[in-house]
Amino acid sequence: MVKRKKYSLSPPPSRNPLPFLVVVFVFFLALNFWLNRSFSDTLSYSDFLTYLQSESVKSLKVTKTMLVGELNAPLPSGKTHFTTVRMDDPQLVQVLKNHKLSFQAEPEAPLWMNVLFWSVPLFLLFRIGMFSFKRGMGDPRGGLLGLTRSKAKLYVEKDISTTFSDVAGVDEAKEELREMVSFLENPRQYSQLGGRAPKGILLVGPPGTGKTLLARAVAGEAKVPFLSINGSEFVEMFVGLGAARVRDLFQQSRELAPCILFIDEIDAIGKIRAGAIVSGGHEEKEQTLGQLLAEMDGFDSSQGVLILAATNRPEILDPALLRAGRFDRQVLVDNADQVGRHQILKVHSKKIKLDPEVKLERIAALTPGFSGADLANLVNEAALFATRRQGTSVTETDFEKAIERIIAGLEQKSKLIHPEEKKRIAFHEMGHATASITLGVGERLHKVSIIPRGIGALGYTIRRPTEDRYLMDQDQMLRKIAVLLGGRASERIFFDSVSTGAEDDLVKATELARSMVTRFGMSEPIGLVSLEDRESPFLPSTLGLRERMPFSQETAYLIDHEVKTLLEKGFRMAFKELNSHREFVEAGAKKLIEQETLEESELMSLWKTYQPHIEPSKLLISKR
Ligand code: ADP
Ligand code: MG
Ligand code: ZN
Repeated sequence: MVKRKKYSLSPPPSRNPLPFLVVVFVFFLALNFWLNRSFSDTLSYSDFLTYLQSESVKSLKVTKTMLVGELNAPLPSGKTHFTTVRMDDPQLVQVLKNHKLSFQAEPEAPLWMNVLFWSVPLFLLFRIGMFSFKRGMGDPRGGLLGLTRSKAKLYVEKDISTTFSDVAGVDEAKEELREMVSFLENPRQYSQLGGRAPKGILLVGPPGTGKTLLARAVAGEAKVPFLSINGSEFVEMFVGLGAARVRDLFQQSRELAPCILFIDEIDAIGKIRAGAIVSGGHEEKEQTLGQLLAEMDGFDSSQGVLILAATNRPEILDPALLRAGRFDRQVLVDNADQVGRHQILKVHSKKIKLDPEVKLERIAALTPGFSGADLANLVNEAALFATRRQGTSVTETDFEKAIERIIAGLEQKSKLIHPEEKKRIAFHEMGHATASITLGVGERLHKVSIIPRGIGALGYTIRRPTEDRYLMDQDQMLRKIAVLLGGRASERIFFDSVSTGAEDDLVKATELARSMVTRFGMSEPIGLVSLEDRESPFLPSTLGLRERMPFSQETAYLIDHEVKTLLEKGFRMAFKELNSHREFVEAGAKKLIEQETLEESELMSLWKTYQPHIEPSKLLISKR
């Protein structure tokens, strides 16, 4: 069940700008005061007349309301300038004339001038003030200098030359993305037929397998603009800026449609928001993610914007991102097997002068666990070796040297897999596969793989649901547990020991067994009681803290006992199946060690040679 989470979509509460305005106002008052004080004294009208009588006024400007002038001798304050408020004195002009004073009338500045004179600096100051406020509080509505328009980091490329022919060894991913190309070429037609194109596709796979390359290739094939941004660029210092960036990004992509919007390394924003309360500093990420979810929800796929994202850590993504209408389609881009590596080498060696003697197949066989990026690097290194010895072409020896060098580097990064280990993984995976063939529950076995450094770290048996099965009976659940424990059972049979490789299997099997007991009432001693842990209204779900249903110590003991019994039952089931199909498991494992992957069809034909009379699990072959 998917947990419900709330996202706050409203902008952060904006701080009241009033205190700031007051500061500006006071500042202006003070300035005005200081200016007046420093350059002129204010005289009363009578004082002014006295000075005038004594001929000590040098010059005078007359405005409608003021008299501004200069005296011959300084005032007691030391200033020679003065201002006087003009009285309604009709004789003034005559008096001034009598004193032979040079005087001039100044037109009163029109009102609009005054307004302008005051408002321009005020406005500027206000904007600067707001800007710094926004930086401080991160108002997503944008700062003065367009801080939210992340032009520097958002890449928009129009004519991408990358095509699918540049990507090799990931045929299935390419196949799935090819459909998207036709969608982008004609988004409207796509929706006319009633089909709803997926909004978002998540490319999942270890680093260097060509996820970024694939995304670009989709744009290149469909000849549409490619907008790309790295997930980490959303993560901002100031709360709210990331969210503004997301909004901006979607706005731009709408303007460019049809186009591809690619968010690389989406895990930087899409992380499960664990520990939010503990550290308190995750508001920014929450908002950014919330905005992303909101934008995706508000998106109409017929607009012709395809959102692609890539991650090599799908397990840390917030489940909300993977829900329907968001990144509901996932494409696995795993490290290539031997055949795939050969193809990748072919693509990259086009760029170098290859000796005709070089057998790329052999090089592919020598490089298990190499990613596409490693292989591209390998070709480059080989060419460098050739250059260094001043050869005319790149030979196999150059490749061998380059392999040695790269493996040395890889060994530091992540340990390469020992042949003995590879054998164990092969048997482990064949254990899952065999249990799935004989006990399968509505999941089609798609592929068995032991590619080192692949997505599952160790081997990975991809099972796809053949149909949406929400209801499973007790027997089916038990068989599912057996399939999960098949790997471990296989290790027990063929190695007489178990390894740590089955940790994840055990976790999943235990979870399943536990729900049988506490949620589905499938255990007799416990009976029809729901004892499921539920989300507590008081504890944040992001912390993974769940409230225990109240039950007694005895019940707790009973649950543990029942879970254990179910797991043992499942294990025995798997053990029995594997034991009676030993030859098949061994043959499959042998083939796996050679090829690193086994397709469903290969597995089936192998099954037919060893067990011609036993049909594989009905559910497995149903619904092709
Ligand atoms: P990722 O995004 O999955 O980490 P990239 O797409 O950035 O990997 O790959 C880095 C480089 O490695 C690419 O530019 C390309 O030269 C090479 N490469 C990776 N995978 C492949 C592949 N499947 N086919 C051809 N080249 C590849
Ligand atoms: Mg990448
Ligand atoms: Zn396993």
